[in-house]
Amino acid sequence: MSNKRTLIMKRNDLLKVSEQYGSPLYVYDADKIEFQYNRLKNAFRKVGRLKINYAVKALSNISIIKFLYDLGAGMDTVSLQEVRLCREAGVPADQIIYTPNGVSMEELEGAAALGVQINIDNLSILEQFGTKHPKIPVCIRINPHVMAGGNTNISVGHIDSKFGISIHQLPHIKRIVENTGMNINGIHMHTGSDILDIEVFLYASEILFETARSFPNLEFIDFGSGFKVPYKDGDIETNIEEMGEKLTQRFNEFCQEYGKELTLAFEPGKFLVSEAGLFLAKVNVVKQTTSTVFAQIDSGFNHFIRPMFYGSNHEIENLSNPDGRPRFYSVVGYICETDTFANNRRISEINEGDILAFHNAGAYCFSMASNYNSRYRPAEVLHYKGDFHLIRERETFDHLMATQKLVSIH
Ligand SMILES: *Cc1c(COP(=O)(O)O)cnc(C)c1O
Repeated sequence: MSNKRTLIMKRNDLLKVSEQYGSPLYVYDADKIEFQYNRLKNAFRKVGRLKINYAVKALSNISIIKFLYDLGAGMDTVSLQEVRLCREAGVPADQIIYTPNGVSMEELEGAAALGVQINIDNLSILEQFGTKHPKIPVCIRINPHVMAGGNTNISVGHIDSKFGISIHQLPHIKRIVENTGMNINGIHMHTGSDILDIEVFLYASEILFETARSFPNLEFIDFGSGFKVPYKDGDIETNIEEMGEKLTQRFNEFCQEYGKELTLAFEPGKFLVSEAGLFLAKVNVVKQTTSTVFAQIDSGFNHFIRPMFYGSNHEIENLSNPDGRPRFYSVVGYICETDTFANNRRISEINEGDILAFHNAGAYCFSMASNYNSRYRPAEVLHYKGDFHLIRERETFDHLMATQKLVSIH
């Protein structure tokens, strides 16, 4: 299904909110988030205990967190600040898992003190934490060394990855657990983004089941995330329904063997929010060179970095002139760096002042935005059943000045 068809927001309404809240602007469709959440839930409906923890780092606005919590989601966090945002949004501590990577013992203890589920990804901290706090239940992040991703930037399960404790170090983990008497209540893996091959994912899951046998007090097994979403018509995406059927069967068999009904957990970010987001920007200048027509928008990689950082290909739609004659444009930004959003892309004829919509702008877009070039980060708007709600104001000069000190050191 195309993004355009699955978003409920109407073109004219989008133009209106862009006028009302200014450009550039992030707009999210909560109906689409709800649809994705229910789709995942439905794919795993035959699991007795299912927990979907939203990976907050994808899009960390507290209204998005609250919306997903109200749908029934728990939260997956990677920093103490994300934990605090969830608490501000009204999420109870016992609905939050903390899955950081290489953080200090102090930060881990800080999160534990807030009462969230701790997940540890290295032997050194596991031993220190277990020695000091043997009573606090801990989940262990395992690296099954399976390369599920399509791109080495985003595959975190393979042999040279920094994430998780190597499955080859299982004897060492067991020794630490025995010596400290700590309580391991969960095991976890996150093999990276873009799972295309379900068989590869299921293979990694078998490694996790095998590992689970070493820990008799488990309450949950967390299979991480990495579901691929389509960026344009015809893109391959993770077949959630097929995966749901296959993993459910294996999971239920495993629970029988294990002798206890465990919780099956996931922590999707992109799957839940990527397609729900649009980034709206205004065309400042249309510039014709000898070979290229540039459409230069009032933004850059400061607001929307994925095309430059990951080479991701976001569909671009001219909201102001949808039926215009398609022409080829290179869509670029206004910051003083090469910031190309698209090269020679076919888009309905663009005039200065037109509003362009970039698709798949829900995940890792606003949350990766910066103030580079001392620009303000954009406002964010949430759409639900026909209404638009402002969920973040555009920054002002005060934000840029808030933490700076003017000193004279001559
Ligand atoms: C980032 C992250 C996720 C979410 O990944 P997506 O590809 O956005 O679904 C899940 N789990 C952990 C531990 C992560 O760091």
